Amino acid sequence: MHCGACCAHFRVSFYWAEALENGLPEAWYEALTPTLACMQGTNSPSPRCAALEGEVGHAVRCRVYAQRTSPCRQVLAGDEQCRKARTSHGLPPAVHPLTSH
Ligand code: SF4
Repeated sequence: MHCGACCAHFRVSFYWAEALENGLPEAWYEALTPTLACMQGTNSPSPRCAALEGEVGHAVRCRVYAQRTSPCRQVLAGDEQCRKARTSHGLPPAVHPLTSH
């Protein structure tokens, strides 16, 4: 991964059972509501997922890539969410619209 802007822009929330289904360790997420959880670090005015390693827009790595939940799998490079996140980091729009982050 070389972007990571969406991992440092949105609150990354999901139905809590997804974490169990995906084998995501508890240390990486927190309860948000009785049914929702979110990635540690993303429920903040300046969100940045605790699992994101590296520098946004240069070289990043997801420490839980294989266990990541649905919101992480849904953002596509070049889609609206991607554009919003990249703009917030001062990055130009992504080039490949069908490449997942
Ligand atoms: S779990 Fe990985 S892909 Fe999802 S927001 Fe965090 S760093 Fe990004």
